[in-house]
Amino acid sequence: MAVETPIPTTSSTSLGPATNEKDAEKLRFIDEMTANADTVQEKVLAEILSRNAETEYVQRYKLGSATDRATFKAKIPMVTYKDLQPEIQRIANGDCSPILSALPISEFLTSSGTSAGERKLMPTIKEELDRRQLLYSLLTPVMNLYVPGLDKGKALYFYFVKSETKTPGGLLARPVLTSYYKSEHFKSRPYDPYNVITSPTPAILCADSFQSMYVQMLCGLLHRLEVLRVGAVFASGLLRAIRFLQLHWEELAQDIAAGSLSPKITDPSVRDSVTDILKPDPELAEFIRGECSTGEWAGIITRIWPSTKYLDVIVTGAMAQYIPTLEFYSGGLPMACTMYASSECYFGLNLRPMCKPSEVSYTIMPNMAYFEFLPIELAAAYKGEGDVHLVDLARLEVGKEYELVITTYAGLYRYRIGDILRVTGFHNAAPQFRFVRRKNVLLSIEADKTDEAELQKAVENASRLLEPYNATVVEYTSHAFTKTIPGHYVIYWELLVKGSTRGMMPGGEVMERCCLAMEEALNTVYRQSRVADGSIGPLEIRVVRGGTFEELMDYAISRGASINQYKVPRCVNFPPILELLDSRVVSGHFSPALPNWSPHRSG
Ligand code: AMP
Repeated sequence: MAVETPIPTTSSTSLGPATNEKDAEKLRFIDEMTANADTVQEKVLAEILSRNAETEYVQRYKLGSATDRATFKAKIPMVTYKDLQPEIQRIANGDCSPILSALPISEFLTSSGTSAGERKLMPTIKEELDRRQLLYSLLTPVMNLYVPGLDKGKALYFYFVKSETKTPGGLLARPVLTSYYKSEHFKSRPYDPYNVITSPTPAILCADSFQSMYVQMLCGLLHRLEVLRVGAVFASGLLRAIRFLQLHWEELAQDIAAGSLSPKITDPSVRDSVTDILKPDPELAEFIRGECSTGEWAGIITRIWPSTKYLDVIVTGAMAQYIPTLEFYSGGLPMACTMYASSECYFGLNLRPMCKPSEVSYTIMPNMAYFEFLPIELAAAYKGEGDVHLVDLARLEVGKEYELVITTYAGLYRYRIGDILRVTGFHNAAPQFRFVRRKNVLLSIEADKTDEAELQKAVENASRLLEPYNATVVEYTSHAFTKTIPGHYVIYWELLVKGSTRGMMPGGEVMERCCLAMEEALNTVYRQSRVADGSIGPLEIRVVRGGTFEELMDYAISRGASINQYKVPRCVNFPPILELLDSRVVSGHFSPALPNWSPHRSG
């Protein structure tokens, strides 16, 4: 959306005085959008509806040429991915008629949220890249308000692409960040002294995760004294990088000492990308050996990159579980959570990026899409039909929780994202949100999101292997174990063995097969993380002795739970309960192999 207000010459904004005129322009844009949140939203909706008036979807609901909120709210239903699946499938199969969007669907973005075990396919249009770029362009001006001198050094960011496929109709299907890194917006970005990253673009674009990580780490080490911030998109990605250093520092130091790249790096463009910077540097190699060979990893980030001012990683939502580990490796550096985004739409940014992780609030930018909010108490009761009262962005109440519902330029109308947000305050007239949780997510190590039904299916799949032993799983619960890197799923099983084999537990080999059977039944994002990325470790089953789950119930009741309403929690994080479970473990078993995974969709 064009902003037509003349740019004043002063650099002061409601966010603070900008360091330069370019930043001032961006901060004024934030001010303008947030001060006029409601008007901007009204215009965004009118723009989306007028341009898509002829689409099959908008026509179906007989909107005519109406572009106002009242008609939109009265006629267009709130939907989930399942409701849109027939339309999405037609587009994927090659139907180019204007089904959801008047502009051509340029590709599908594969969400880490799944449907029937497969990644959800989100249609997108070319111009959405500009919108995403616009949000990215706001992050540095905001950061510059809090951290001076970012133009005096570099950023060590670990960025990765993932595999892409084509739909039957020939459209690309890939994650949103892969799409962004492969775009000219990223590849041909103009030089910006505030955003110089150590990773060469060919290393980021290399689909082989080992080669990509190796060279990104190598470059980070070569530039170690210039690095001012260290990051990855999510906390789990940064921890993977630290783990990589723990496993490969000897090879990296050897390359640095000799000034030649390991033959394991076979991608020619990745090799070329370091020829100018990799020269023999025995002193640096010795330094790395000295720091990494002691086995002491506390504060490793600041020891290797001593000028690091902060970590740039998302540690809100499911990533909060990694805060203590990151504190350990960084010696307590601040962690900046800069933005909140999804495959469907980029939402907004944190206007106080240096605040504590527990205080992070994101401000949704009203120009990104049309946003509505389902009060949490209505979300639980809504059965998928009938009118529902959604609240507009500018009319939310501080302290209340809502589920986010979006209408995008790419053709999602009143679509439930599944994120629950709490309003913490306002910036100008735009609300700010704490990310509370994603609906129905039980377990998550990195991008994977496993819900209760998926876990149940996995347990059922595995427990079939127990039938020949007359054994059944009487109760189970789970925990995302992140004390080691990579983290892994731990599933606690209480078994019952019947009949003549009574008392004879199935052997270790059977239990290992059960671990693998569970993994085979989990969704594609889980299996990709296990197989292609190595970012989740083998699933573990811990068998607990008979009666443990009864003790768990006693414990809950002693803490005030109602005996009638008590349900076994399918995921536990509360340390005393984990301690209780762990103290009753009779045997532990790990998945002995990788589950099946291929980049191609099965459905
Ligand atoms: P995807 O579509 O796979 O990119 O996943 C998007 C989802 O990741 C969002 O809907 C959120 O649930 C989660 N997410 C994204 N950004 C954040 C953030 N800053 N804090 C917490 N969760 C986030």
